[in-house]
Amino acid sequence: MNQYDVTVIGSGPGGYVAAIRCAQLGLKTALIEKYDTLGGTCLNVGCIPSKALLDSTEHYHNAHSTFQEHGIELSDLRVNMPQMNDRKNGVVKANTDGIVYLMKKNKIDVLHGLGSFVDKTHIKIKPTGGGEEQQIETKNVIIASGSKPTVLPFIAQDKERIITSTEALNIREVPKSFVVIGGGVIGLEMASIYARLGSEVTVIEYTDALVPTMDSSIGKELKRVLGKIGIKFLLGHKVTGATREGDTVTVSATSPKGEEVKVAGDYCLVAVGRSPYTAGLNLEAAGIEMEERGRIKVDEHLQTNVPGIYAIGDVVRGAMLAHKAEEEGVFVAETLAGQKPHINYLLIPGVVYTWPEAAGVGYTEEQLKEAGRAYKTGNFPFRASGRARASGDLDGFVKVLADKTTDEILGVHMVGPRIADLIAEAVTAMEFRASAEDVARMSHAHPTYAEAMKEACLAATDNRAIHM
Ligand code: FAD
Repeated sequence: MNQYDVTVIGSGPGGYVAAIRCAQLGLKTALIEKYDTLGGTCLNVGCIPSKALLDSTEHYHNAHSTFQEHGIELSDLRVNMPQMNDRKNGVVKANTDGIVYLMKKNKIDVLHGLGSFVDKTHIKIKPTGGGEEQQIETKNVIIASGSKPTVLPFIAQDKERIITSTEALNIREVPKSFVVIGGGVIGLEMASIYARLGSEVTVIEYTDALVPTMDSSIGKELKRVLGKIGIKFLLGHKVTGATREGDTVTVSATSPKGEEVKVAGDYCLVAVGRSPYTAGLNLEAAGIEMEERGRIKVDEHLQTNVPGIYAIGDVVRGAMLAHKAEEEGVFVAETLAGQKPHINYLLIPGVVYTWPEAAGVGYTEEQLKEAGRAYKTGNFPFRASGRARASGDLDGFVKVLADKTTDEILGVHMVGPRIADLIAEAVTAMEFRASAEDVARMSHAHPTYAEAMKEACLAATDNRAIHM
């Protein structure tokens, strides 16, 4: 029987990163994955294919809407959905092949099949396509089994017309109409993809705001700017059902006034969040405790109640984000190697890859108010940025929240061009506990979108933004 120092179950961004870091630290490591390809949700049906389609559809939308203004004239512009999807599949393959390469490079044994506990130190691997089971012995286990789309019990998803994000990333035609249940990150990204292609898109959201966990300024701005590309929003609407007849899906909802509303579409995407996935792991055999909402219970070291068994990523508490899973993978590997790693969960940024993009890190204004913390605000709109004027990306803003007395940056929230990358500046500043004044005094190249961060920090310190 093969013996390992560490066995990682699940090859998503949490699992494969944990495996690489374990191997780098000299631990004999195995990685178990039930699917044929490595990379988990993120690489196969999440972050990567969605960004590939977002990029393709952004090109198409720009060719239609802004090229003329730039003096570029095109005629006979058409979408080739099979080609767009083939390109996306190619991008996914290049990424998942990259993980195979990294496993080989780091001498990690990859075992394909469903991993399940026999006891605390033995794992059984059942090949997905049949074949002989094998068993391994391991000193430590890192569970990184991820998540699956949450289902609404009163909606029967046939995965053809009433679909999850996985199917929404694989539609090989432009839907005439597309209904999205859920105005969170995944819902808005998918809504953007199809609205840009010309589908009539309606987003139905239960709360009265989009991306309700982010700073409320972000949801308001996204509603305004995504409305400009034709997306309709029904906020405060409680979905009560969805039925399919032929190729049409009708979604019923109750409006804030209590009226019954019906919205019909070629497709209905249910994007109401994701749930931790532990099916088939046989956690009971190892005596692993769970907590609410199907998550595996872990302590501050990400260790379960069983010494030597850890859990990371979407299957444990916290933001369901690839980079959070990655940080936790490194954290556990370094803990196993006797190091004392640290994760600052406050500084895990959240990003929405619509156009303009949206991002936030640190405390929201609502959280500061609720905590009774004295703070000040600096705002800078992209319409006052020279770089944004040159590219024509005038929507959005950077908002900096700083402690009223010490000036320490407490939160940064943005909507704007390329701010998925710009949020890294806010994370860096906050990790070093910078004040708004510190950032305001740093040189930012001109003309760049990043100048909006400097200007917002200037605005936060004695209202001295230069270009506003
Ligand atoms: P996963 O990536 O879910 O991987 C878990 C793996 O474990 C899977 O491959 C599964 O097959 C395997 N597994 C489970 N049980 C077993 C078992 N018993 N035996 C063997 N293998 C098993 N996050 C971002 O940060 N940025 C984004 O832009 C982003 N976009 C997204 C877009 C979409 C459409 C979706 C759905 C998600 C997106 N996410 C994004 C979220 C991100 O994909 C997840 O947070 C991330 O993948 C979680 O990583 P993980 O390692 O915890 O689990």
